[in-house]
Amino acid sequence: MKSTSRDIRLRNCFAVLRHLIADAPTSRQILARETDLSVATVSNLVTDLIELGVVVEVGREDSGGGRPRALLAPNAGGGVMIGVDVAETYVHLEVYDLSLAVVDRVDEPIAPNENSPDQVIGHIDAAMDQVRERLGDRVVLGLGVSLPGQVDVDWGVSGFAPNWNWHDVPFRRLLADRLDLGVPIYLDNPLKTITVGELWFGDGRGVDRLAVLILGTGVGAGLAFGGRLYRGATNSAGEWGHTTINPGGPQCRCGAKGCIEAYVGAPAILRQWEQLDGRAGNGSQGEAMAALAAAWRAGETSAVQTIEAVAEHLAAGVANLVNLVNPDLVVLDGWVTGILGDALMPELERRLPSHAMATPLKAARLKRNEQERNMVALGAAALALEGHLSRLNTVGSRNRR
Ligand SMILES: [Zn+2]
Repeated sequence: MKSTSRDIRLRNCFAVLRHLIADAPTSRQILARETDLSVATVSNLVTDLIELGVVVEVGREDSGGGRPRALLAPNAGGGVMIGVDVAETYVHLEVYDLSLAVVDRVDEPIAPNENSPDQVIGHIDAAMDQVRERLGDRVVLGLGVSLPGQVDVDWGVSGFAPNWNWHDVPFRRLLADRLDLGVPIYLDNPLKTITVGELWFGDGRGVDRLAVLILGTGVGAGLAFGGRLYRGATNSAGEWGHTTINPGGPQCRCGAKGCIEAYVGAPAILRQWEQLDGRAGNGSQGEAMAALAAAWRAGETSAVQTIEAVAEHLAAGVANLVNLVNPDLVVLDGWVTGILGDALMPELERRLPSHAMATPLKAARLKRNEQERNMVALGAAALALEGHLSRLNTVGSRNRR
């Protein structure tokens, strides 16, 4: 795909605004230094961001003898973005201001039998109703929604949501009709939204080649290059969980055998523990995983052996990714990482050198996500922000023509 001047401008704009959100209040000069762009380029972008209502000048600072420099900040009193994390058991909706601070949030549980598109959209609508009153006259710039499964981003269609048995649901159109908000709606799945969240507000900010590995019930990766999410030809880039590490291995739910997910997905981890310890695997997946973490902390042999086996397969998978992508940073995320990270991370790091090539492994920093925030909702809101910023080109070209 050809990179147009518009793409480059947008990429620069994302970089400037990400630093601005992280370091506000700051100056054009510091932003130029942080982003490796010229002061003239940054000034142009800032002018457009101010015109778009995204950035404001908040004061001046002494520049050591020269003219005082204007200080810039995100326009926290301006428009808001809505990010919605739709999972199998809940709808979590958050409202963000332009500094990506959460200004409101609502949780709606989804009952096990409520799995029609109409019912799920009903919960989003109910959550939206609650925040609508509190928003007052603040303008909503866009709405981002993360849906489980495969999502056709361009058409706004849920291609396949396995646990709900959805096929080709025109979700964006149905949601737009129901909410009647009159703002753009962006859809994607959690792999993609978490990665966009990492770019805007996590460890991925300013990183050139980023891989985010999500360990949960399902397993996958998000890839981002040059500060932009990499989607691939059909938005399925990052299906790392379904790369094979053992062609004769256990059956995976995708239909293939021996995928990474068939070893390190939550059901697979709990199954391995149960084979070693008959008491294992009671309660919900989350409860059982917490019990495994507790048993590991207590030094129980079955738990220690389970962690070692999982870490061995995870290391093979991470090494494949490191060899293939040669990333600067690998972030481990997802609820399994949250619960088992203390146990898994050291075992993983210890095993990586025997699977990965030395040069790419040395270049890759490995980190566990330590953000307390809901990265899925944040990333969904960031998709809406990116959509809003894409209007920049029309604003900017009018300026300089
Ligand atoms: Zn698979």
